Amino acid sequence: MCTLVLIHRVLDAAPLVVLANRDEMLGRPSVGPRLVRREPAVFCGLDLKEGGTWCGLNEHGLFVGLTNLTLHAPDPTKRSRGLLCLDMLGCRSLDQVHGAVSATGAGAYNPFNMVASDGTRAMRVRYDDRPAIEWLEPGVHATTNWPVGSEGDAKRVWSETRVKQAVSDAPDLGSLLDSLQDIARTHERDGDPRASICCHVPGYGTRSSSIVARTADGGPIYRYSDGPPCEARFEDFSAVVAEAFGHQP
Ligand SMILES: [Zn+2]
Repeated sequence: MCTLVLIHRVLDAAPLVVLANRDEMLGRPSVGPRLVRREPAVFCGLDLKEGGTWCGLNEHGLFVGLTNLTLHAPDPTKRSRGLLCLDMLGCRSLDQVHGAVSATGAGAYNPFNMVASDGTRAMRVRYDDRPAIEWLEPGVHATTNWPVGSEGDAKRVWSETRVKQAVSDAPDLGSLLDSLQDIARTHERDGDPRASICCHVPGYGTRSSSIVARTADGGPIYRYSDGPPCEARFEDFSAVVAEAFGHQP
């Protein structure tokens, strides 16, 4: 059950901040974030089974992240949703993403939620046989593997609440990013382990955590834990991404 929390135009220091925990089958091979494409340059992790990604950033300042919607057993004959996410990271503007997603045919993919932002505007797509797009107001928006607004989606409510609290408590961006790392590694003490943002159940769980942002001057921030964030430390790829994107601080 992936969790993706977008902090959209709340902070003066960074109009786009994302915390994304990727939950996946433990045996599914993947590699951590790297420059996977040029023109435009795309920085993201890769799923080695299908070749797609779960979230990333490109040189035009676009963030795209995707969570599977677990409405029913997926149809294995359909194109990988991660490949669509990678395709969208190849776009040069949010309008281009919007156009491409809008044109996605009926039944082309298994159900998913997608979040995309250029730091000025943000959109969330629910694809369940066909795309439904909403533009997001400035604020904190959590997306999981449930349809947005579902009763019983405790993790979405928990994540939004915790991140909103962290935003109001943090004195500066660096402190907030550190708080997001702490939130990413949190376990619920009681109840369903799948309700934890850092989730561990037999054969499945949180495989990695990404904290991605763009600062007010467009500088990229990219922190990544190559393993469950309760065990693996976050590495800072920000300088690598800035160089790959040709960003001059
Ligand atoms: Zn954990």
